[in-house]
Amino acid sequence: MINFIDPHSDEFKKIQSISFKHSCLICEQPLKDNGVYFSILKQEEDPSDESDNDMILYRLGCKYCKTVYTVDFKILSIDFEKFPNFVTRNIPHA
Ligand SMILES: [Zn+2]
Repeated sequence: MINFIDPHSDEFKKIQSISFKHSCLICEQPLKDNGVYFSILKQEEDPSDESDNDMILYRLGCKYCKTVYTVDFKILSIDFEKFPNFVTRNIPHA
């Protein structure tokens, strides 16, 4: 298994600084304690392109509630069953 995280890249520094500065928006746990990093290798779509420009995209996850954030600290997905005061209710159809 290859570890794609490059701790010296700007993108990784961005996500790291988010984890130090913010708490999880859902469960309010500090992300410096509960954060986990994901890396996604985004491959070039044009196979004829010989340049080795694979992008590594980073995501920040909260181990506590499984919310995933982008490098801009936007919520990408939440585990809604762990959402506080979560109530199931069907959306009425007009
Ligand atoms: Zn959380």
